[in-house]
Amino acid sequence: MKCDRCQNTAAYSRKYSGESLCSECFSNSILRKTARTISKYNMIQNGELVCVAVSGGKDSLALLHVLSKMAKNHNFRIHAVTIDEGIPGYRDEALDIVRDFCVRLGVEHTIYPYKDLFGLTLDESLKQNEDDRLSSCSICGTFRRRAMDHAAMQIGADIIATGHNLDDTLQTFVINTLSGDTNKIGWMDPDTSNNTLRKIKPFCEIYESEIVFYAFTNNLPFQTEPCPHTNEGIRTEIREFLNKLENSHSGIKNNMYRSVLKISQTMKDANHKEKIKCANCGAECTGKVCSVCKMIVDLRD
Ligand code: SF4
Ligand code: ZN
Repeated sequence: MKCDRCQNTAAYSRKYSGESLCSECFSNSILRKTARTISKYNMIQNGELVCVAVSGGKDSLALLHVLSKMAKNHNFRIHAVTIDEGIPGYRDEALDIVRDFCVRLGVEHTIYPYKDLFGLTLDESLKQNEDDRLSSCSICGTFRRRAMDHAAMQIGADIIATGHNLDDTLQTFVINTLSGDTNKIGWMDPDTSNNTLRKIKPFCEIYESEIVFYAFTNNLPFQTEPCPHTNEGIRTEIREFLNKLENSHSGIKNNMYRSVLKISQTMKDANHKEKIKCANCGAECTGKVCSVCKMIVDLRD
């Protein structure tokens, strides 16, 4: 079968649009889609430095690949950051992959270990949580968000870019809806223009399956080994359910994404709270103490 945009052999069939694309036209379409999302939400302004969060997984390496191409013809710069949680065996492989890839792309790269920032590796903090009051990923995720904010400030970045895709957004929306956590739905709005440090997700309008194909067709090296603490809980079931729906109703994820956007914008307006400073560390938060200080106290108790 021929590519619909040139005479090369088609390598990808985009069911929701009915297009057949060769590898090159497919990759160009991902670049164009990402550029459209960035421009639609004013994600990056002229002259800004973008801190790209690169874990070593397919999404973050694909994002780094796409943004490094864009940075060559646009007026912004990028700097890759990897957070080292201190998970023996697992993180080391990813760090090697990211280091080599950044050298290949000519992108500056810095590693920030939890141990340096919080005085504890993830494994050490999990030992203090032996009765499993908190899940590994909730401890790790809270530390990671703070570590990324710190890294971005250290390198003088204006924005943090992460590789979250459209499927991640839909799954998170369903999880928040099922758990009754409507406040969190308001945080899903891709417009973060009012935040001091903006968080952007340039792949938020792209299916996960397309990121996988982009990584594959561009020979991107990525870590396939899962984290030993991974506990996706209900997320895997939701992913499978949404993929099943998409298989029988092409484009249904795109439709759902548009609904999620409208709902999250409404929720954001409804639960807008004034930011105050954490009484302990001074970080911006919405309670008396921030989530990191609260977690450290909980782990000590
Ligand atoms: Fe951290 Fe959980 Fe990710 Fe492992 S799977 S790196 S524990 S958030
Ligand atoms: Zn083509």
